[in-house]
Amino acid sequence: MPYAYDDQNIFAKILRGEIPNKTVMETEHTLAFEDIRPQAPNHVLVIPKGRYVCFDDFAANASDAEIVDFHRTAAAICAGLGIAPGDGGGGYRTISNAGEAGVQEVPHYHLHILGGRPLGRMLARAD
Ligand code: AMP
Repeated sequence: MPYAYDDQNIFAKILRGEIPNKTVMETEHTLAFEDIRPQAPNHVLVIPKGRYVCFDDFAANASDAEIVDFHRTAAAICAGLGIAPGDGGGGYRTISNAGEAGVQEVPHYHLHILGGRPLGRMLARAD
């Protein structure tokens, strides 16, 4: 079952209030908080409150309201951090790791927002 959701994953525990987080923004369907091991001066994780494993699960199975809310929240965070190019910011990168090849550590869909410094090329060649 590719989309078996594990209720014991760490982001499910954050959503249930069982472990703390540094919340950046919260809406009806979406929670955003600071990554515990930031890779850049700005490193925010955006997660849906629903039980979705990864991007394709979310895109296929979430409601339109959840999908719109998720993306508008992520964009509002970029604007709030002052990193959105459309607002004169220096730019950012969004990353969503999925599955084994994508090296997804936490099996609850999340978008990384990274910014605040030049981020370099997207991927280094492994070969
Ligand atoms: P990924 O490899 O895309 O699944 O990324 C998971 C991210 O979750 C990593 O960047 C971790 O630093 C972050 N993370 C893990 N546990 C926590 C936590 N309790 N609070 C905030 N971020 C976390």
